[in-house]
Amino acid sequence: MTALHISRLFVALLGMLAASSAYSQTVKITPLGTHTGELCDRDRATIFEDPTGVRILYDAGQSVMGGNDPRLGTIHVVLLSHAHTDHIGDRKITALNMGTCDKPETISALPNSTTAEIAAAKNSSLIMIRNMAFFLGRKIQNISGKPTGNCAEPGGAIAAVQAAPCLAPVELGGSKLVKAAGASRGVEITTVHAAHDSTLSRELLTDAQKKTLEPDNISVSLGAPSGYVIKFTNGLKVYLSGDTGLHSEMKTVVHDFHRVNLAVMNLGPNAIASDAAAYAMNELVQPAAVIVSHPNEGATSGGIIRAGTRTSDFIDRVKGKPVYPAISGRTMEFDGSANCVAGCW
Ligand SMILES: [Zn+2]
Ligand SMILES: [Zn+2]
Repeated sequence: MTALHISRLFVALLGMLAASSAYSQTVKITPLGTHTGELCDRDRATIFEDPTGVRILYDAGQSVMGGNDPRLGTIHVVLLSHAHTDHIGDRKITALNMGTCDKPETISALPNSTTAEIAAAKNSSLIMIRNMAFFLGRKIQNISGKPTGNCAEPGGAIAAVQAAPCLAPVELGGSKLVKAAGASRGVEITTVHAAHDSTLSRELLTDAQKKTLEPDNISVSLGAPSGYVIKFTNGLKVYLSGDTGLHSEMKTVVHDFHRVNLAVMNLGPNAIASDAAAYAMNELVQPAAVIVSHPNEGATSGGIIRAGTRTSDFIDRVKGKPVYPAISGRTMEFDGSANCVAGCW
């Protein structure tokens, strides 16, 4: 072997090393739905794992088993887009694959909600609109028996690992930074506008509150509904739409300012029609790739999108970028440019 051969071999080895370290610099995204390998009616819950190890649960909802769900693992941060029952989680599953994908079997998660159960079990930091954080703080206290304090932010960042669940309330547009121990960079989480609602079901209120509100058939709102923008340490910038109709901040704030490259778009006809959701992706947010969730229908069968569904219509209308269904239990890995490098098919 000549010196030239050896140097070429060395360069090739360096290239392989660089590729493998780039590979490890991925954000892992795992949807937790009611039915393994499918995208089902109630599915919303999604886990994001930064390369530094920070693990974030977005909208626990009704497709998890509560704090004991073995799929959860460590959850450092709990996000909640708004207070509606299918997001805060007034119901939960007892096991996977119960009922059908169109109509999964669930049981009540009252009085606390899946979101509070998980945050209490995992000592998570709750990053969300102020009134929702306060409300869930009390639910967590009802579980733990201890008051839920605010998360400390030494040096401007919340430590990923906390000794107890804690609140990190924000207003719309506010940001929090979450850092793993020893990491040089943190994960930045910002709330953004959603054109929706955030009224709590009366069922989640105390009896005294319920009695006061029942005669008027109304309930309380827990502040502004939101979406999120998460900036991961590998450069991936993810827009979580929350439930929302079309709004112009998808273009001005989410695209022009935050420059997101991946979007998790919620469907569901009460909030947005599939043609409007596709317009949001094509013309407003303009990400490099899309994950579709919150279908409010059994969107897949055998992991394949069912023909004639609203989800199928949405996917057909999104142009020039891949759309990945949020398949339960499948971990997708994205590099900093929103290329899916593993787990997408
Ligand atoms: Zn909603
Ligand atoms: Zn919803």
